[in-house]
Amino acid sequence: MALKVCKFGGTSMADGNVMKAVKKIIEADPARRFVVVSAPGKRFSGDIKVTDLLYSCYDEIQKTGTCKEAFKAIRSRFESIAKELNMSIDVNADLDETQRRMDEENSKDFCASRGEYLSAKVMSKVLGAKFIDSEDVVFFNEYGVMDDKKTYKAIADAVADCDKAVFPGFYGKDIEGKIKTFSRGGSDITGAIVARAVNASEYENWTDVSGFLACDPRIVENPKRISTLSYKELRELSYMGANVLHTESVFPVRKANIPIIIKNTFRPEDEGTAILPVSQYKPEGNIVTGIAGKKNFTVILIEKNHMNNEVGFIRKVLSVLEKEGINIEHIPSGIDTMSVVVESSEIQGFKLERVIEEIKNDAEPDVIRVMENVALIATVGHGMSSSIGTSARLFKAMAEANINAKLIDQGSSELNIIVGVKNEDCERCIAAIYHEFFD
Ligand code: ASP
Repeated sequence: MALKVCKFGGTSMADGNVMKAVKKIIEADPARRFVVVSAPGKRFSGDIKVTDLLYSCYDEIQKTGTCKEAFKAIRSRFESIAKELNMSIDVNADLDETQRRMDEENSKDFCASRGEYLSAKVMSKVLGAKFIDSEDVVFFNEYGVMDDKKTYKAIADAVADCDKAVFPGFYGKDIEGKIKTFSRGGSDITGAIVARAVNASEYENWTDVSGFLACDPRIVENPKRISTLSYKELRELSYMGANVLHTESVFPVRKANIPIIIKNTFRPEDEGTAILPVSQYKPEGNIVTGIAGKKNFTVILIEKNHMNNEVGFIRKVLSVLEKEGINIEHIPSGIDTMSVVVESSEIQGFKLERVIEEIKNDAEPDVIRVMENVALIATVGHGMSSSIGTSARLFKAMAEANINAKLIDQGSSELNIIVGVKNEDCERCIAAIYHEFFD
């Protein structure tokens, strides 16, 4: 029998009226039994997300020992939600208790988690469903990574006796019994975890867009919607900045082949995007599925004659970065050259100088140069592997737009071609590639 886990994002929880629409969506399909919610998001442009208000509460606690002032905004947000819902929901006891515990715990993650906690409390009342606190069922191990086995079992046990339940997204408990959050946007991960734990037939992720678009609509007007995407394509695109879904949310569902369906709370009739395991994925006939880009990378270019003959050269370079704890994104290489691409935020200022010095000492290159302000653009699609001339078309489009490729990297899976361009060429480059393959 079909069983769906539905995650509703911040804009779907933004006010009481949207929550009523969410109730309608859930009740329209009996398979929608388990719900994961985010904290209330922005109601209008310029509004502040509840999670951000909660971080301000934490800042006030650091300064004054209490979040009395900053908490007023949280209280008024949930009071208006209760009023709009018009269902005699009393939020005051939960708000009082939350404020008291925030002062007492004095923890950033605890404060941040309360948006999800409170919206799940409200939503469980709206739906007449069981509230399952994620602190009782989502566990992190001693390395701060989720303890899969323990978590899946706890969730499965917790839902065993209920028809409908609501979970707060974004947090769990660490080995010391303290609340710990995932990274921002992490309720998507909680949704995927619950879907996996209950062995759902689908993980529906309800947001405020009707699925994935082939590229950022701020760059190209009205880009094509992608109706199906493989997990692998999703991972490539979301890692490179297509931020409909948290990058990490693929992993729990991928292992169990559970499709993710992106849906729009504000246009529930729209088809959305289905993200499927490669085995179920049928390409739509496009060569390219989507294009995404991310700015602010630093490239370290290294040259050494006969690099190809020197055993251990690449290791020496990479060891420097490893020792400094710097994450490497790409390593395009030639016979006597190699480049290391890292996010600029990882290697700014003094750290960059130190890394250069250490590479000079340890690997003795002939030339070492640094290129900053580089954007990486990923053109992604399973269709690329079976069509000849894709990269020729891509580079022709770039040439016609007068954009210079600073580096090129094509994964061996032929699932993506990554080009590095100047930051200021990023948007124009995405648009040029889009028009070449989609117009
Ligand atoms: N509320 C958290 C955030 O703003 C988590 C989420 O919305 O998924 O990042």
